[in-house]
Amino acid sequence: MEKIVSLAKRRGFVFQSSEIYGGAASVWDYGPLGVELRKNVADAWWSAMVHARDDIEGLDAGILMHPRVWEASGHVSGFTDPLLECKTCKKRWRADHLEEAGCPRKPSVAPGGHVDCELGEPRLFNLMFKTFMGPVEEDASVVYLRPETAQGSYVNFLNVQQTSRQRVPFGIAQLGKAFRNEITPGNFIFRTREFEQAEMQFFVKPGSDDEWFDYWLDQRLAWHHEIGIRPEKLRQHAHGPNELAHYAKTAVDIEYEFPFGWQELEGVHNRTDFDLGRHQEYSGKRLIYIDPGSGERFLPYVVETAMGVGRSALVALVDAYREEEVAGQKRVVLGLHPALAPIKAAVFPLMKKFGQPEIATELLAALRRARIPAAYDQAGSIGRRYRRQDEAGTPWCVTVDGDTAEDRSVTIRDRDTLQQERVGLDHVAGWIQDRL
Ligand code: ATP
Repeated sequence: MEKIVSLAKRRGFVFQSSEIYGGAASVWDYGPLGVELRKNVADAWWSAMVHARDDIEGLDAGILMHPRVWEASGHVSGFTDPLLECKTCKKRWRADHLEEAGCPRKPSVAPGGHVDCELGEPRLFNLMFKTFMGPVEEDASVVYLRPETAQGSYVNFLNVQQTSRQRVPFGIAQLGKAFRNEITPGNFIFRTREFEQAEMQFFVKPGSDDEWFDYWLDQRLAWHHEIGIRPEKLRQHAHGPNELAHYAKTAVDIEYEFPFGWQELEGVHNRTDFDLGRHQEYSGKRLIYIDPGSGERFLPYVVETAMGVGRSALVALVDAYREEEVAGQKRVVLGLHPALAPIKAAVFPLMKKFGQPEIATELLAALRRARIPAAYDQAGSIGRRYRRQDEAGTPWCVTVDGDTAEDRSVTIRDRDTLQQERVGLDHVAGWIQDRL
């Protein structure tokens, strides 16, 4: 993990928030490469969930919602993790993460070891961030920063269904920020207090929910494979009766084997008609679906897929990181799937003379016109330039050399196979596009 965090900072993937002030706890800023990686993850998700299908519609609901939404959803009363406080250091630990509870006030004599906290009774703590709408800070103006995007999809269920003329089964997808005042954030961008979610709510006829649940679990696993995550590093964890959230009939986590152990990457949940039923009750508005064909009326069940975009980007980084030796030299490579790579191609003139930089600059401009994120580098030896791009996860390096002016061709080197291919100058953009 330390190597990933250090690479992320060194190469401009992720910086600590407000670093010059000493940092803001568990908030991270995505730098030039990180913002591209995160956006590529989000785009891959949106494209698979919305653009490639005719039964899912997109939505972008507000972060702030009517406060009654969170009463109806159960978050005001139930969005809590039982915590235990250490009597010595006063730190609070989640009841389901007690293995992390090492007391900083009682250092261990053994290097790297820890002495357990002296924990009190479990207590409840609300994880939602509270603020005030309008100029007066009073109880009547309390609003919350949403802890999940899902509720925006439920309260808009009929708006989306009627305007898009979808029929059940169909889904609503959202990408957007969510906030949780996590008690034990950490592990870099794994658990943060502000994060982006990629959530999809699929509305189905009651009775067909178990089948749709299995379908969506398969689809989501397949998606993680498609973006290049090694299948042996992914597994499923079905929630037992004591782990299930208050709204869930069944829940399976897709877990990834991080350097700090197997942890949740995405959750697939059967939320039944809990949310629509509660919103109907709390708002007094009917949310019953009437099938235009059969005239059947029912409150749909919901199968939800919920993933953190930052967490998925972290998985991509961890899964892609490797150290190897090439021709006796050590190299660090991020073997990111080309669709996720922040920079798709880097252009190098072999030498800083003989017109090579001019040709390389023209090629760079052609790549930019084709909207291919590309970089230019003429500093240092060619080997060092390769190493810089390998570390950034750039799949292809394009070298303009002594022959280019005559044969109008360049050499494209593949990051993973190290194979080199001679390609006509005018075909470079198309060659890359074919492989994205
Ligand atoms: P965890 O137990 O890891 O805190 P959760 O079970 O509370 O997660 P869900 O409510 O199911 O998570 O949220 C769906 C997804 O959103 C998670 O699988 C994860 O990828 C992401 N996510 C949840 N909380 C955070 C967070 N604090 N920081 C980053 N991503 C998060």
